[in-house]
Amino acid sequence: MTLVLVEIDAGGVIEVSRETLTFARSLGDLVDAVVVGDLGDAARDQLASYGVRTVHHATGEAFDAYAGAAWAAAVQAGLRASGATHLLAAGTPRGMEVLAHVAAREDVPMAANVLSAEGSDPIVVTRQVVGGAALEEMRLAQSPTVLTVAGHAVEPRPADAPGAADVVDLAVDVSEADLVARVVSTEEPEPDLSGGLRSARVVVGAGRGAGSADGFGELLELTELLDASLGVSRVVTSLGWRPHHEQVGQTGSRISPDLYIPCGISGAIQHWAGCSSAKNILAINTDPDAPMVTKATYAVIGDLHEVVPAINAEIRRR
Ligand code: FAD
Repeated sequence: MTLVLVEIDAGGVIEVSRETLTFARSLGDLVDAVVVGDLGDAARDQLASYGVRTVHHATGEAFDAYAGAAWAAAVQAGLRASGATHLLAAGTPRGMEVLAHVAAREDVPMAANVLSAEGSDPIVVTRQVVGGAALEEMRLAQSPTVLTVAGHAVEPRPADAPGAADVVDLAVDVSEADLVARVVSTEEPEPDLSGGLRSARVVVGAGRGAGSADGFGELLELTELLDASLGVSRVVTSLGWRPHHEQVGQTGSRISPDLYIPCGISGAIQHWAGCSSAKNILAINTDPDAPMVTKATYAVIGDLHEVVPAINAEIRRR
């Protein structure tokens, strides 16, 4: 039995949770879900379509504000109720935090950023390490096996046979200590072009080659024309040309789009750590020997201030 911590937002089950449910089915076991907070009929229908047998649902005052340790208590209750031997979550900030709490409480190891898994006893996983710059194989012999699934490791796919998604309320013992670290207020970030950077299908990247804070005009236009997100290198954020939340890399966002277009980015290892999961890379750079160019699927060698306007003109012409 596999239990998946599923995250839900206004649009229903979030995409990376649907990916994780797809991943869970590939382990060959029955799949249950644990949901903390609001569920809703639409999300329940989605869970059924992804083959979920039972939804273990935790609600109540303790979950009104997000607290990682309280969610962990709910997930542990879900483990007991389902008898699951495997526990999965998407590699979101919440998935990582909650499963780390659970693993510590269950005194078992946790494998983060898992791309694939084989076998069952022990389960052998391949996961991204060193910020995605290397892969590691890990054998998880203890039960429950606890792992987070890297974004876009699999395509989200409904099950051939839907599950019942019967909802069972969980009795969760939340202690005062579980609520010490909790969200007390949230602020909406300023509107920006990096929205959805981590889950974007197309990302336009911009590095020092942009030249200055005023050198982003054609890059922003390309971002808009492709309905893409903008991601930048650390040089760009350090120089104050663009805000930090747009940064891609070891100390920024990890992205895994279908297409990444790094313009004027050298491809330093710390940047590569954030974009190595991109399925295709089209590098635009003046230097044919830049690491980003040598690793790219396609490259255009030239000045981005000439190449990008030409691409934009061609897109507009079509
Ligand atoms: P550069 O390395 O200077 O490269 C600029 C590139 O633009 C060159 O390849 C050049 O040929 C090309 N170019 C110049 N002009 C043009 C033009 N007109 N048209 C086309 N191409 C042009 N970096 C990150 O990005 N993300 C991180 O999260 C991150 N974390 C870090 C963490 C640590 C602990 C450390 C030490 C460093 C980190 N860095 C990170 C910094 C990283 O090492 C690099 O310094 C940075 O990625 C380089 O940014 P860049 O490629 O924009 O600039």
